[in-house]
Amino acid sequence: MRRFSISSLLTEALNGHQGWERQWRNPTPKAAYDAIIIGGGGHGLGAAYYLAKEHGLTNIAVLEKGWIGGGNAGRNTTIIRSNYLYDESAALFEHAVKLWEGLSQELNYNVMFSQRGVLMLAHNAHDVQSFKRHVYSNRLNGIDNEWMTPEQAKEFCPPLNISPDIRYPVMGAALQRRGGTARHDAVVWGYARGADALGVDIIQNCEVTAITRGPDGAVTGVETSRGAIKTKKIGVSVAGHTSMVMGMAGVRMPLESFPLQALVSEPVKPCFSCVLMSNAVHAYISQSDKGELVIGAGTDQYVSYSQQGGLHITTHTLDAICELFPQFTRMKMLRSWGGIVDVTPDRSPITGKTPVKGLYVNCGWGTGGFKATPGSAHVFAHTIARDEPHPINAPFTLDRFRTGRLIDEAAAAAVAH
Ligand SMILES: Cc1cc2nc3c(=O)[nH]c(=O)nc-3n(C[C@H](O)[C@H](O)[C@H](O)COP(=O)(O)OP(=O)(O)OC[C@H]3O[C@@H](n4cnc5c(N)ncnc54)[C@H](O)[C@@H]3O)c2cc1C
Repeated sequence: MRRFSISSLLTEALNGHQGWERQWRNPTPKAAYDAIIIGGGGHGLGAAYYLAKEHGLTNIAVLEKGWIGGGNAGRNTTIIRSNYLYDESAALFEHAVKLWEGLSQELNYNVMFSQRGVLMLAHNAHDVQSFKRHVYSNRLNGIDNEWMTPEQAKEFCPPLNISPDIRYPVMGAALQRRGGTARHDAVVWGYARGADALGVDIIQNCEVTAITRGPDGAVTGVETSRGAIKTKKIGVSVAGHTSMVMGMAGVRMPLESFPLQALVSEPVKPCFSCVLMSNAVHAYISQSDKGELVIGAGTDQYVSYSQQGGLHITTHTLDAICELFPQFTRMKMLRSWGGIVDVTPDRSPITGKTPVKGLYVNCGWGTGGFKATPGSAHVFAHTIARDEPHPINAPFTLDRFRTGRLIDEAAAAAVAH
């Protein structure tokens, strides 16, 4: 694979950019692989990359029913942070942030990781207590997070309205300076390019329609829209469609799938330098490098597989945005879209082995899995390669819903973008 460097960019600039090769191949599926990953989002492609790079497993394929990055990886608002309450979550998300910090160099691909700071607003006494508890807990785990008064929050985010007269006045904020955003497409493409260069077959337009099992119950392969493929190891990384794919192997999952929406405004000059989140009013906002305000809403109230969501949900979010930032009231919204997120009862992911031999699952990231992409992919690859959990994903078992050892980020955060 040709590396991106100053000299290769200069050569191509002089050459009219005619010499760049394809970023990844378009292979025909083989009859058998050592391992198959279902789902070509960031998590699936990342797992394939680390399987090849760190565990020497190169006879593997990623099967994607549409195009890579066409799922939630390409639909999210790209907020990255690691200031979660519980030790288990903090370890997992901080592992991811550490990998984000070196990801562009690791992949030789600019994922545009920008540590511009994530500011989380507190609007009531409960928020204040809860966020302060997060700050203390995060510091004990070596994770940066600091408490700010409304005036300090405004200094950090000048457009913020801290007037005490609004419906949900700002009573303070928690700031993680190492939090920020990354370019979602670039993450998918960077992992795809890196995995392909290590020999991984990335097969698009290939929907898995069945998972086959032998007499001992172990997986033996998959049936797809492009024919049957044999394998002894399958990693399922299909986000909102996990219940359906795991159902193919006869495993019922403790998941609900909800639409989650986002929208972008018309592009404007740089005016918003951080990421701002308000869990209480369900509004999240940052500004993309193109100048669009990127705005995220809360989930719909009802389960659904329609990638749309209700108009009243985004309207509610825009009400909150206009109150927090009155200067945005006259801006026009350009596009809105939805994705399907898979939500567990405790709002923490499930990543690890399953009751079926050779079948591994990575799911339940709900509204907040983009930030985990490198960390999740890294530990999932370890689990698939060694058939045992990595110490970081060991607590995130499917079994915890039977044993009761929950990691209750639902109670801790309510919404977890
Ligand atoms: C609107 C919105 C905003 C969000 N904002 C944030 C945020 O700010 N920060 C954050 O951390 N997270 C956010 N998230 C959540 C985040 O996007 C997801 O948790 C994460 O992207 C999941 O990644 P993935 O790679 O597992 O899933 P995906 O990118 O969805 O990949 C799964 C892939 O599996 C494929 N697939 C499904 N079924 C099959 C099949 N039968 N055969 C083959 N392939 C199949 C799909 O086509 C899809 O491409 C948001 C999500 C949405 C929808």
